[in-house]
Amino acid sequence: MSKKLLLKDAHIEGIRYLETYRKQGGYTAAEKALKMTPDEILEEVKASGLRGRGGAGFPTGMKWSFLAKPEGVPRHLVVNADESEPGTFKDRYLMEFLPHLLIEGMLISSYCLGSNVSYIYIRGEYSWIPDILEEAIEEAKAAGYLGKNILGTGFDCEIYVQRGGGAYICGEETALLESLEGKRGNPRLKPPFPAVKGLWERPTVVNNVESIAAIVPIIDITGAEYAKIGVGKSTGTKLISACGNINKPGVYEIDMTITVEEFIYSDEYCGGIPNGKKLKACIPGGSSVPIVPANLLLKTVNGEPRYMNYESLADGGFATGTMMGSGGFIVLDEDQCIVEHTMTLARFYHHESCGQCTPCREGTGWMHKILKKIEKGEGKMEDIDLLWDIQRKIEGNTICPLGDAAAWPVAAAIRHFRDEFEWHVKNPELCQTQNYGLAHY
Ligand code: NAD
Ligand code: SF4
Repeated sequence: MSKKLLLKDAHIEGIRYLETYRKQGGYTAAEKALKMTPDEILEEVKASGLRGRGGAGFPTGMKWSFLAKPEGVPRHLVVNADESEPGTFKDRYLMEFLPHLLIEGMLISSYCLGSNVSYIYIRGEYSWIPDILEEAIEEAKAAGYLGKNILGTGFDCEIYVQRGGGAYICGEETALLESLEGKRGNPRLKPPFPAVKGLWERPTVVNNVESIAAIVPIIDITGAEYAKIGVGKSTGTKLISACGNINKPGVYEIDMTITVEEFIYSDEYCGGIPNGKKLKACIPGGSSVPIVPANLLLKTVNGEPRYMNYESLADGGFATGTMMGSGGFIVLDEDQCIVEHTMTLARFYHHESCGQCTPCREGTGWMHKILKKIEKGEGKMEDIDLLWDIQRKIEGNTICPLGDAAAWPVAAAIRHFRDEFEWHVKNPELCQTQNYGLAHY
């Protein structure tokens, strides 16, 4: 049984309201933190080993320590709640059921970073959640946890919720900042990183919802105790949103010591694959991370069990491993067609490309067109090589990671399932007349 730090009270009725949240010990971590100095809080976060939970896994304490502090210039904390990665819905769960956990985490983080005005940028499609957050913000304000002179410390902090307009690219931190400034959400070149020049060119920390929520237990139990949970550089707990061909889709909190096999098959988590079907592949970290076939998913290339953590999932590099990413765990059973699946993702990335960089703007469109052709049984063998060539020309040649995110699924699908692509080319009549997913595997 994994230890629960974030979701331990999620089942309690009324936990989204301040009164119930406080009964469960809510805001005691904030009260403790406000008696500490900002530097002491930063040391706790560094000691915890917390890595960014949005997808990149960048050490949070290190990011905070990069925050520039020029005299007289305001600083900001911006929470990235633009959760749009296909297969990822854990931040939605946190905000919907535990809004005060996020607000308490923001209060502690804002105090540590010196942000008197902090923001939550939330994806537009989560249309019902801003009201939940704003209600919680009002409650926190009325209780003296937000506003002026919080708990008599002299620290002031306001939190504002900003709705996005529905573009995936606005989850990229610099596009998010552009959008928050009221402009079109085009990613900026980095460096400078937001920690130096962020919102309105002011030093800004952009962190994922789950990362900021995790600050509460870190202060509560101390960074050193948090670091004892998990393994290696995968400290603490991680939320996983599981979906696809599993018996129990949902949001799970794991302590990163369990194996992938246990996560898929045990009743505590996904509960196995419906109808006794075999596992074909999985995308463990949201659509942007490489797909992994069952044999490499359950074991590493060295025959070791594969664990649900940053290091083990990446074991073997991109050729055989994958990434923890955002924790959007998508399971595919033996009936699923990898070509069709890859085409669906390619269509998504083409639609969501902001169009600034030629390799991404043009390349995502070409990949979608070619995949559509192959999927319909109208492709040639050379098209598979062309597809490979295009994805290679996108990777690493764009302003933001959307280019890589579009290229990696295609690369991994061809690398691991080339025979399925070839099958489509060799069996055009079956592609057009049958459920080929069932027919060839
Ligand atoms: P990144 O590696 O470019 O940056 C990670 C973070 O570290 C950023 O906040 C960046 O500003 C900071 N950083 C890195 N180097 C720094 C330096 N030298 N100085 C100061 N700060 C520095 O990655 P990213 O663009 O933040 O995230 C990409 C990941 O996001 C992908 O791998 C994908 O898994 C994930 N993703 C998640 C979602 C979602 O809905 N959760 C959506 C799309 C993508
Ligand atoms: Fe826009 Fe794609 Fe370039 Fe990112 S990689 S800036 S989404 S064109």
